[in-house]
Amino acid sequence: MKVVLPDSSELELPDGATGLDAARAIGAKLAEQAVLVRADGGVQDLRLPLGDGERVQILTTRDKDDPDALAVLRHSSAHLLAEAVRRLYPGVKVAIGPPIENGFYYDFDFPAPINEDDLERIEAEINRELKEGRAWTREEISRDQAVARFEAEDEPYKVELVGTAEGGISLYTQGDFTDLCRGPHLQNSKPIKAVKLTGLAGAYWRGDSSQPQLTRIYGTAFYSKDDLDAHLERLEEAKRRDHRRLGVQLDLFHFDEHSPGSPFWHPKGMVVFNELEAIRRRENERRGYLEVKTPLIYDKALWETSGHWEKFRENMFLIPIDDEHVYGIKPMNCPGHMLLFGSALRSYRDLPIRYAEAAPLHRNELAGALHGLTRVRFVTQDDAHIFCTAEQIPAELDACIDYLRYLYGLFGLEARAEFSTRPDNKLGTDDEWDFSEGELQAALERNRIAYVLGEGEGSFYGPKIDLHITDALGRSWQLGTIQLDRQMPARFGLTYMGPDNAEHAVFVIHRALFGSFERFIGILTEHYGGAFPFWLAPIQVRVLPVGEAHGEAAASVAARLGEAGFRADVGEATETIGKRIRSAELEKIPFVVVYGDRESDESLAVREHGGGQETLGLMDFIAKLATLET
Ligand SMILES: [Zn+2]
Ligand SMILES: [Zn+2]
Repeated sequence: MKVVLPDSSELELPDGATGLDAARAIGAKLAEQAVLVRADGGVQDLRLPLGDGERVQILTTRDKDDPDALAVLRHSSAHLLAEAVRRLYPGVKVAIGPPIENGFYYDFDFPAPINEDDLERIEAEINRELKEGRAWTREEISRDQAVARFEAEDEPYKVELVGTAEGGISLYTQGDFTDLCRGPHLQNSKPIKAVKLTGLAGAYWRGDSSQPQLTRIYGTAFYSKDDLDAHLERLEEAKRRDHRRLGVQLDLFHFDEHSPGSPFWHPKGMVVFNELEAIRRRENERRGYLEVKTPLIYDKALWETSGHWEKFRENMFLIPIDDEHVYGIKPMNCPGHMLLFGSALRSYRDLPIRYAEAAPLHRNELAGALHGLTRVRFVTQDDAHIFCTAEQIPAELDACIDYLRYLYGLFGLEARAEFSTRPDNKLGTDDEWDFSEGELQAALERNRIAYVLGEGEGSFYGPKIDLHITDALGRSWQLGTIQLDRQMPARFGLTYMGPDNAEHAVFVIHRALFGSFERFIGILTEHYGGAFPFWLAPIQVRVLPVGEAHGEAAASVAARLGEAGFRADVGEATETIGKRIRSAELEKIPFVVVYGDRESDESLAVREHGGGQETLGLMDFIAKLATLET
């Protein structure tokens, strides 16, 4: 048989040859370094046979940043972890241990609880295994044999997994540990140059809270020690920038157990919120949106019409009114906007109508899913619904894309898109979805926005474009969304009169570009490490009198800055000037003006956060600040 190599050359192999055979046929060194095969796009264990005519790529230890090569290394490390834990904790039961983004985990049922201190001991045992060296062997056995084997080992979770496994049963063995596993795995442990156990957590068996709670040990592994060090450094930086920590340090917001997942916005946090709100209002007005306000609670009948009762009810907060009536607190604005559009007869001359509303919304997210500002129950979207004719869709989508490019550009961010198509629980026909999906895809291509396909990931009422950005730490975040919908307006019986005096179906584009203010501010806080750009900073300038004698002059400078439209305050002379400069730095205030004996309104000492110091007259300073506004 033949396989095709990445350079398009063909390699002759005996029938049934494996990935490792192919590597050997090319060279001994390649065979030694091989970790995985990519065959016709999918990944495959080196020990498995290749198919005739397949395109084959052999990944080696040199592909140290390839996500698949990292996954096989980390999955193999998870098996080493299980081997170590079984040796150190007799009576422990093993559950599952997959690779995940940035690492791996393994779930265990320990006879007695363990704590963080145990991780060091386990890590030492893994390193001992690595020093000894391990090699993996793979075997395929029958289901009955597998059950018998794991029953004999008293591993009930494995027995259960054999029962629910799809396809053939395979085992991988290294040292004295055999795991039920589909693979793929490394040939041996030589490529594993660095393993680090990173944490402990509780996890229910099969993610089901009625099942036993297991102990999950997290870890990560790399092809080089340097890569591990760089990874740990990034984690440290992410910790320093964690918005939940900076939010408290910078006095922006806090959370309280009396309303989990719902931020309390402090005055300084509200400054950031309102600056974004000001942009939303200004741009909406410039771009032909109409600001509206619709109720927060609606009778269940509305949610039945919209489809949310059937598809989204478990995420809604409900209010029983009397025996017959239940109200739902809105998790989104769309149904209210449908009623608004339907409140009058609409003609083609009225369209498009663009309703905008940044109302507070509530979503009953699971407590375990809540995460600072990025996953909340109390959420404010920069939401809008564009009611338009089929012919108007392309121009409206182009305008949305222009808008989002402007918004993200304010923060130096560039959008990528995920284009999500019809899900299994979709409303409407395939023909309707063909049209809507086609419109969104054409808009992405017309506007040259890079996108990936999320097959089956659309909303139940329509396909969507989710917008993603990469932050300063290289992490990807989802922000806004643009969705094209013909189902919800149809369910509400919404139409418009065409030039032909007949009723036509109206389309709705749902779009939120920041996404939610909460999430966007959380992401911005981490992106900037709390040092917001000048125009967004809660306090833009702090004036520091060197001594009490300079208090009045400093207050007058702050007042003049305030009159010029900037947020300035005075750091009274209650502590040394050095301490107050340091504290302004910790608060990440963009500019600090120090006012002492040598200073006057014609000559101010201005320090820029993270930058240098210069001497400027007050008028020149104000002129400089004006250039930093949006
Ligand atoms: Zn495995
Ligand atoms: Zn909507």
